[in-house]
Amino acid sequence: MIVLYPGSFDPPTNGHLNIMKRAAGIFDQLEVVIADNPRKNYFFSAQERLEMITEMVADWPNVNVTVWQGLIVKYAEKIGARLILRGVRALADFDYEFELSMMNKALAPRIETIFMPTDQKYFVLRSSAIKEVALFGGDISEMVPPVVRKALQSRVQVRQP
Ligand code: ADP
Repeated sequence: MIVLYPGSFDPPTNGHLNIMKRAAGIFDQLEVVIADNPRKNYFFSAQERLEMITEMVADWPNVNVTVWQGLIVKYAEKIGARLILRGVRALADFDYEFELSMMNKALAPRIETIFMPTDQKYFVLRSSAIKEVALFGGDISEMVPPVVRKALQSRVQVRQP
């Protein structure tokens, strides 16, 4: 069974990686789908996010990473997948995730969304907060994989010569 794990992953964190690892251990195939919405301003380009996640999952043969610009249900239909996986941290995530799943259900009734709760170690990890910490020179080594830490640090150095 194929499961899609869509997100912005801007940047990918250890929380995302934990969800990927657990999903890869359950499903036959995990498709990580990087959203590239032309109207959104990302910190890292789609290509950069693709390279980071590709390196993070390099040891897991049943994980594939793609960039997609359209609706996630369209990608699911394109590759014949029927499951969308989303990670949830606190109750605050649930409101948004629940609405999104209703929207996707209305668009494509055959496709189901499933939720996986975060591991408690990653409860407070949020891409936006990690970018802030990195910009102010804080230690993010416990929050993101090494490839992401390096990318964030070199980006911060460029901005603060
Ligand atoms: P989006 O911009 O689509 O909400 P994100 O890149 O922020 O995407 O996150 C992708 C998915 O991973 C979402 O379902 C989000 O709730 C989940 N997620 C983000 N951070 C964590 C975490 N620390 N633990 C578990 N799930 C997470």
